[in-house]
Amino acid sequence: MITSKNPYTGEEIASFEELSEDQIDKVLAAADMRFSSWKKTSFAERSKLMKAVAEELKKNKKEYAQDITLEMGKPINQSVSEIEKCAWVCEYYAENAEKHLADEMISTDAEKSYLSYEPIGVVLAVMPWNFPFWQVFRFAAPALMAGNIGVLKHASNVMKTAQNIQKVFERAGFPEHCFQSLTIGSKKIEAIIRDKRIKAATLTGSKPAGSSVASIAGEEIKKSVLELGGSNALVVFEDANIPETVKSCVMARFQNTGQSCIAGKRLLLQENIEQEFMEEFVKQVKELKSGDPMDTETFIGVLAREDLAEDLEKQVNETLEQGASLVIGGKRDKAYFEPTIVSGVKKGMPMFEEETFGPAISVTTFKDSSEAVDLVNSSVFGLGVSIFTENSEFAAKLVPQFDDGAVFVNDLVKSDPRLPFGGTKESGYGRELSKDGIREFVNRKTVYFN
Ligand code: NAP
Repeated sequence: MITSKNPYTGEEIASFEELSEDQIDKVLAAADMRFSSWKKTSFAERSKLMKAVAEELKKNKKEYAQDITLEMGKPINQSVSEIEKCAWVCEYYAENAEKHLADEMISTDAEKSYLSYEPIGVVLAVMPWNFPFWQVFRFAAPALMAGNIGVLKHASNVMKTAQNIQKVFERAGFPEHCFQSLTIGSKKIEAIIRDKRIKAATLTGSKPAGSSVASIAGEEIKKSVLELGGSNALVVFEDANIPETVKSCVMARFQNTGQSCIAGKRLLLQENIEQEFMEEFVKQVKELKSGDPMDTETFIGVLAREDLAEDLEKQVNETLEQGASLVIGGKRDKAYFEPTIVSGVKKGMPMFEEETFGPAISVTTFKDSSEAVDLVNSSVFGLGVSIFTENSEFAAKLVPQFDDGAVFVNDLVKSDPRLPFGGTKESGYGRELSKDGIREFVNRKTVYFN
């Protein structure tokens, strides 16, 4: 049995029987069968359905948001925003898929030669609980618009949400089996990746999960895309607009109760502005309202599971034992973790080296830009970095010096359907969203007419 438990109350919400091998086989057979007709549909037809999905999301956003909050503790307003963002990505691909996948003419010796982008079949998506709708939709909207079929293995603690996502497609009128959710634990993933009817796999999650999925896919010569962890730096230079930067840094670290891959987890301050910045930053973090995630006033909920809060507590305590200083917070109560700021953090300490998945931020100072770049790049992760400075020429010179998949100047790193999203190093490979995202799971067919 797979059980969903409300992390705020500790109550069991629902339990689900895991699918048997036979049932999984039926899901894959139905998906494969559906591909043979879905791939022949026009962009206009797919687009109409994807717009209906966006409408369904907007119409029933409260219903879907409530289950997210109950299953993983996200404050309800943020769950509603997540559903709205899913509607946006559906609209984006409904409007742009055809353009992104249009034939590309290439001049050669041939009478005519070009590249065409064609669907590949059934794609397995292994997804995490932290943005349980968004992570799935940013895969599903482009995949379905490209003519592929989606099969989802969602995180075990959000299986009700997984079923809701399948329901969204059904309610919007999508043909049966275009998108199905598998109620299974992660042990059953290997056989599914190896199944001939699965053509590729995408995973958003941790390094061990990504490494396992990518190794199996590699053995089977199937493409994979990995969106893994991050430890983004927020780099504040002495000429930054401090009030605006503080606001961005608070949002970057504390929204979604700190459980975001692209959260700003390491705050790097130029040493001569540390005092001024910290005064305002501490004040604003203290004002964040913790409470019942179902309360619309709440900004900080609970972590999605108690063990995740325990992991964070361990990272904070070990960092303090190694010489860093607690500025505020640091206490845990079951799945709740206080908004926490730890200063004097140095390379080698857990909060600097590891991903912290919750409302705790490390603060490190630097002397000059070369030290800042070194601190940013010394991370094993490479999802994104934010730099704050009023000097855009200086910022433009810094951009190529970072190893990350994204550099945001004077803003927090965020995902946007119009912009490619993805990491480098242990943050994974491949891109989601935008033109790049829809071109990940297609056959780039070279066509030559002589
Ligand atoms: P996780 O433990 O890796 O789980 C993610 C998914 O992988 C779940 O469906 C999980 O299923 C499955 N899984 C776990 N172990 C597996 C294995 N050995 N083989 C195959 N599948 C496996 O990650 P999480 O704790 O849910 O999510 C947090 C992590 O995701 C963080 O590191 C975060 O930074 C990362 N993340 C990255 C992005 C991005 O875009 N780069 C976005 C969001 C989150 P079960 O639940 O059944 O174990």
